[in-house]
Amino acid sequence: MRVHDTEMPQRPLVLVTRRLPGEALALLERVARVRVWDSDEEMPRRELLAQVADADALLCLLTERVDAELLAAAPRLRVVANMAVGYDNLDLAALAARGIVATNTPGVLTETTADLAFALLLAIARRLPEGERFVREGRWTTWAPLLLLGRDVHGATLGIDGAGRIGAAVARRARGFGMTILYTARAPRPELERELGARQVAFDELLAHSDFISLHLPLTPETRHRYDAAALRRMRPTAYLVNTARGPLVDSAALDTALREGWIAGAALDVTDPEPLPATSPLLTLPNCLVVPHIGSASVATRTRMASLAAENVVAVLEGRPPLTPIPH
Ligand code: NAP
Repeated sequence: MRVHDTEMPQRPLVLVTRRLPGEALALLERVARVRVWDSDEEMPRRELLAQVADADALLCLLTERVDAELLAAAPRLRVVANMAVGYDNLDLAALAARGIVATNTPGVLTETTADLAFALLLAIARRLPEGERFVREGRWTTWAPLLLLGRDVHGATLGIDGAGRIGAAVARRARGFGMTILYTARAPRPELERELGARQVAFDELLAHSDFISLHLPLTPETRHRYDAAALRRMRPTAYLVNTARGPLVDSAALDTALREGWIAGAALDVTDPEPLPATSPLLTLPNCLVVPHIGSASVATRTRMASLAAENVVAVLEGRPPLTPIPH
């Protein structure tokens, strides 16, 4: 772990809480001194509070909680640029009360995250992790009519919970698989209905009629534990849940029971609660649960674009311009 400052004390100071790909640091260094937590591990909270004390800007990740405590430790802060589209780690009211600009990285990660959601859907339906383990364990002795039978993805019904940017991108992929598409949204999406024949339904109907449900809602007080025991019980016993949104949308204890007792057929999770998921989690003992470590946006090109966009937002605010992608409030 290393913290380094570039010279030129008259320039504003940007605290960057992790190593970043691409040109992001170079963009920042054109206008500011840059202090980087030069590590792939999380910045300890105490260190973060100490290092942000003289910062004019903070470029952070979803692992950093930006709350009243942090803002109290950062009297000079003018902008917080979250390198993520989700911003449930930011206390927007506290930021607004201080007049601090908050930005996120919408759009640049949409297609990459949709790719991962679809990869998880295919993998859990066709039992890829189980099959891979089976081969590695030397148990593949013959072709067998009953070996590792899964569920067809083509022709099935996909429920998109939260038809925003990523939800719509997943729906477009599903169209190529001849899937019927249901979606929830607070306002109808006529273009999805025209383009994909998608149909808006109430949450209850989505639960009852989907063979696969893919979550694409933001985490808010309203959506936290949307998938509680009651919701999971309303799903089909043959249905699968795919979560690439945020872990706490799902009640983990209820999901564990649902998977053990066969309320649903399986789950594929890019995000968990807690996160990281400890290796001792009971979910990891279940063959019908696939977990990957929050890699939705993890392609070289997309992480590079996210870092650059976050840096461009910081530069804009430090130069007195409006940021490219402010968080709406
Ligand atoms: P988005 O375009 O804002 O889509 C979210 C959608 O959810 C919007 O259409 C929103 O509707 C809808 N929504 C919000 N509350 C709802 C509710 N109570 N009922 C029904 N619909 C509701 O955001 P996005 O870019 O698609 O990203 C979605 C989420 O994915 C992010 O918030 C983030 O947490 C997560 N994400 C995860 C990864 C990963 O690495 N796994 C990567 C990117 C994003 P309105 O338009 O009415 O608000």
